[in-house]
Amino acid sequence: MKIKKLLGKIRNKLFNILGIDNLIETYVNKRTSLLFQKFYSMSVRPNINYLEIHLCEHCNLKCAHCAHFSSIAEEEYLSIEEFESDLKRLKELTFGEINEIHLMGGEPLLHPQCKDFFQIARKYFENSKIILITNAILLEQQDDAFYNEVAKHSIVISPTKYPIKVNWEEIRKKCKHFGIKLEFYSNSEKEEKTLYKLPLDLEGAQNAQENFLTCPFSNECVQLHKGKLYTCCVIPYIRHFNKKFNQNIQITPNDYIDIYKARNMQEIMYFLAKPVPFCKYCYVKKRTVDIAHRITEQKIEEWT
Ligand code: SF4
Ligand code: SF4
Repeated sequence: MKIKKLLGKIRNKLFNILGIDNLIETYVNKRTSLLFQKFYSMSVRPNINYLEIHLCEHCNLKCAHCAHFSSIAEEEYLSIEEFESDLKRLKELTFGEINEIHLMGGEPLLHPQCKDFFQIARKYFENSKIILITNAILLEQQDDAFYNEVAKHSIVISPTKYPIKVNWEEIRKKCKHFGIKLEFYSNSEKEEKTLYKLPLDLEGAQNAQENFLTCPFSNECVQLHKGKLYTCCVIPYIRHFNKKFNQNIQITPNDYIDIYKARNMQEIMYFLAKPVPFCKYCYVKKRTVDIAHRITEQKIEEWT
């Protein structure tokens, strides 16, 4: 018994000196989070948690590595009519059951009719949390009519705090004055916003299934774009990358689900929880995070 105890102590001491305890902990944590990610990616959800919609494709900040390709997108605006038609159809399918609707871009405040989208979104989704996601560059200069519409339709303003000059005091004051909820995006109020890179494999030689199961975007950042739903943000906006760098990464009809053809929400939720062929273009294992913020040099290497 004594020998067993002594051996245990020696083992613990050795593990401590060699840092093996930490290694085991890191390994277990990594395995657990990977398992959790796989489970999460392929879980068929009861409804859409986050629905992201681009009000415009381009952006006035132009960050390197932008996952929505907005920093290399040409000027392009969503039409009010298309937005209304798509939301009307989604209301029929979901009976209004979408937890959060993110009105974003690109930079949504570049849209000359930005405030007109609020009333339509609220008309079809009475109980959803509707959030305007913005880089805040144009927020301070919005007029009272804009802030009144935000308040009237209970839209939450969610700015990302990039390392750029923005008069936050003034924005806080305005939101308080109009009774608007201000929620900084992704904890960016407290932590300096950094970038992440999602490299693409131009040959499409990766394992689509493995990628889907280990990708934190799959079945999570659901995009509504031109009457179709996509499981993540990379697929619908790849066209900006193709155009900018003269590439031809193909989207197939198996990469999205058409909301006008889908029979019910169950069909949609099953579709969103399964790998799509496009996933073969992602290098999930080579992704990097915590990159210092910088403006794009418009080079293909930022996305490959
Ligand atoms: S602010 Fe957002 S949408 Fe605009 S370029 Fe940067 S990451 Fe992309
Ligand atoms: S296409 Fe890429 S980003 Fe989208 S779900 Fe597949 S692996 Fe993830």
